[in-house]
Amino acid sequence: MKKLIEKLYRENYLNTDDMLTLLDNIYDPGNMNYLLARAHETRMEHYHTKVFMRGLVEFTSYCKRDCLYCGIRASNRKAERYRLSSSEILEACAEGYELGYKTFVLQGGEDDYYTDDRVVEIVGKIKERFPGCAVTLSIGEKSFESYKKYYDAGADRYLLRHETASRTLYNKLHPKTMSFDNRIQCLKNLKEIGYQVGAGFMVGLPGQTNEDYVMDLHFLKELQPHMVGIGPFIPHKDTPFAAEGGGTVETTIVMLAIVRLLLPEVLLPATTALGTLDPMGREKGLKAGANVVMPNLSPVEVRKKYALYDGKICTGDEAAECRKCIEGRITNAGFSVDMSRGDHKTWRSEQYVY
Ligand code: SAM
Repeated sequence: MKKLIEKLYRENYLNTDDMLTLLDNIYDPGNMNYLLARAHETRMEHYHTKVFMRGLVEFTSYCKRDCLYCGIRASNRKAERYRLSSSEILEACAEGYELGYKTFVLQGGEDDYYTDDRVVEIVGKIKERFPGCAVTLSIGEKSFESYKKYYDAGADRYLLRHETASRTLYNKLHPKTMSFDNRIQCLKNLKEIGYQVGAGFMVGLPGQTNEDYVMDLHFLKELQPHMVGIGPFIPHKDTPFAAEGGGTVETTIVMLAIVRLLLPEVLLPATTALGTLDPMGREKGLKAGANVVMPNLSPVEVRKKYALYDGKICTGDEAAECRKCIEGRITNAGFSVDMSRGDHKTWRSEQYVY
């Protein structure tokens, strides 16, 4: 197995058979440690000990979509809904700016209250008030034209996990009104427009196999996104998948490590979902090649309402406490906090205005 890991480390690629063999044998401790060591080495080569901080504003829990795994799906009548006004979003960013954040990630359900005009206005105000900061949007599937409007308003990055690259699995996780092809097309459109793009997938979805993960890994290699969000699926009690098992820390860190080797320069978050599964989950993610964390800047009053899955951590802490807590975790794990914009290495600095 070490030979395969070595090949992946040197060539940043494995064919389908080799990748499957790797996944089928990786949980042997010797193999696992070797993989993690190579992923860490690759991360050190490209990013040293740096961990980039992004301030996350979860600005709406309304969603018109009905993904079967998600706690804020439209048909969850028990979900508590909220939406932040543009001044509340700006206030959250201002608090983050005071704490040193240079990237704001605006994430939410697909909420038609936020028309293109409203999104454009919010992005424009953030860019105006916090010059030099990056704005990342994560608001789901939109038309090419809408994405272009947000980009022209100053949005720099867009996160849209592909969720799973297996069409069959995708169709089991989503209602018929949602389309695998459209999700993939959205990612291609975002790249074409010029965003720094984040794709990604969940780990431990109902029925997900190593063959499915191989599809995810190859899809990512082909798409060449700037960011990859990988987190465990965690069941939510008021969804059709309430009784499912969910993902593990082990499989998640294996995927992080392999993605670090496939895309050595990629920006790779250690997710809140990973920290929810295990108190040391994010640290384990960082040691497997992750180099981004996204502490929460949302007002504490709404935090619990953005409940994608059960048991979500960091729902009670003020932004400043989150910042301090995560900084302590990063340094204790042997890494260092980097408060710069943290653009992808291939990003040309003349593409944005200071
Ligand atoms: N609406 C936007 C979208 O579709 O990309 C962004 C918000 S969506 C809630 C953000 C991500 O949460 C999804 O891409 C999905 O991977 C993740 N998510 C949803 N439910 C989850 C669950 N039960 N466990 C873990 N992650 C989940």
